Amino acid sequence: MRSVLFSLLLTAALFAQRQPVIGIGGIVHETNTFNPKKTTLADFETGIGGAKGTLRGSEVITLSANANNTTAGFIEGARQYGLDLHPTVVAGPQTIGVVLDSAFNALTGELIEGFRRAPRLDGILLFLHGTMVAESYPHADAEVVSRLRRAFGDKLPIIVVHDFHANVSEEIVKLSTVLLTYKECPHLDAKERGVQAARIMADVVSGKVKPVQTIVKPPMMLNILFHNTYAEPLKPVTDESKRVEQNPKVLAASVAGGYQYADIPAMGPSVIVVTDGDAALARREADRLSNMLWNLRERLAFKAPPAAEAVKTAMSNGKYPVVLMDAGDNIGGGAAGDSTFILAELLKQKAEGWVMVISDPGAVQHAIQSGVGGQFDMAVGGKTDNLHGDSIRIKGRVKGIHDGRFVEPAVRHGGGRYWDMGVSAVIELEGSSLDMPNLILLTPKRIIPFSLNQLISVGIYPERMKILVAKGTIAPRAAYEPVAARIIEVDSGGVTGMNPARFEYKHVRPNLFGMK
Ligand SMILES: [Zn+2]
Repeated sequence: MRSVLFSLLLTAALFAQRQPVIGIGGIVHETNTFNPKKTTLADFETGIGGAKGTLRGSEVITLSANANNTTAGFIEGARQYGLDLHPTVVAGPQTIGVVLDSAFNALTGELIEGFRRAPRLDGILLFLHGTMVAESYPHADAEVVSRLRRAFGDKLPIIVVHDFHANVSEEIVKLSTVLLTYKECPHLDAKERGVQAARIMADVVSGKVKPVQTIVKPPMMLNILFHNTYAEPLKPVTDESKRVEQNPKVLAASVAGGYQYADIPAMGPSVIVVTDGDAALARREADRLSNMLWNLRERLAFKAPPAAEAVKTAMSNGKYPVVLMDAGDNIGGGAAGDSTFILAELLKQKAEGWVMVISDPGAVQHAIQSGVGGQFDMAVGGKTDNLHGDSIRIKGRVKGIHDGRFVEPAVRHGGGRYWDMGVSAVIELEGSSLDMPNLILLTPKRIIPFSLNQLISVGIYPERMKILVAKGTIAPRAAYEPVAARIIEVDSGGVTGMNPARFEYKHVRPNLFGMK
């Protein structure tokens, strides 16, 4: 009798301690619909920065826990707010073109199967970039949530975290219980938003809050040139979204910049406000933040120097290093990483003391064959497609060959920690002086310039250079601002050129401000 009583008590105690089981997973793809190269399932295996692209099962936890990304935030939030996590799959490839239906269906299927295997499922924390486009699904993120709803019903709490560059639609806001986006660009709050989502989830499953949410989209395109949330003109809007969240009735207030390289109806910025049961408050605050964005438009006229002017300005700046953001070859935004427009100008104008990274596997092989100290003579760059300039013959010396791995312990854009460029070579160009060498770092993979350790790890000292070329627009600022005397966003050509006039749009909403 006593043992029966004991086991009953034990069962009761275990039951009382039972924590909600929350599935976590994600498909994180920023689709550049102007990039002709489609995204395959294999591309999902190669991740951003050469890190593993798709994490499965327990590696979702082990390989994310000490990073500063959104999954790390889910893990930290679960610990803080008493949730048991059931990891499934988190897939995050580099940005390329439209996702093949076969890849999209396979990953979504894997995600759903993963959630089905949970011992119990009290909710889902989902990390979706917010601008994934599959062949048959222009708003593929909404399709993911729609399939989850079909599999698990309308009642299951599903909380979605999007990137700041999400093109959010009304549809996905209706399908999800709560949707929030990164507030910051560069994305230094990736982890914080994961923690916030877990906190809201804990309150939802315990019945403490009943979320309602509203989305408002101002009729505009917010050019990537203005996505820096740490500076005018956008900073006051970002600050205000944080202030709105101080109202205890507000669970989340997001202002997402959108992603202009996706030719879809949802393209453009969004404001999403989530409150505890107060639809009118959500609407009011969303309208107010949306109006703040709309009222900035006089300050949002696109203007940036082309490559020739930018190089000239950088050379004569007086204070160094000057960072040239090669916006047209924004790797994080889906470009080739081998554009030569700025390289051509550096050579033509005889600039000194510059470094540029170019993704070119063939050129790396040539350097490896020559060996350290050997001669290098080969045309580099401009090989991926016909959008990023011509290959340019480079003569010089192989200064170093490196295994290409590096670690970024600090919080940088997106919160990645472990990087792998692949075996890479540093070429010192003919005519370089010892004090002011001209250097090209050749990598076999496209590596987003989110960490200065990319250069430091191969023996390049960024602060001693005069000109640093970063293949990005705003995101690399978190890494480069600490050493930069000046940053110039260059209106360079390429599949991520900042000027929308470079592209032909067919599916965006008509008459958006900022498209001309
Ligand atoms: Zn982003």
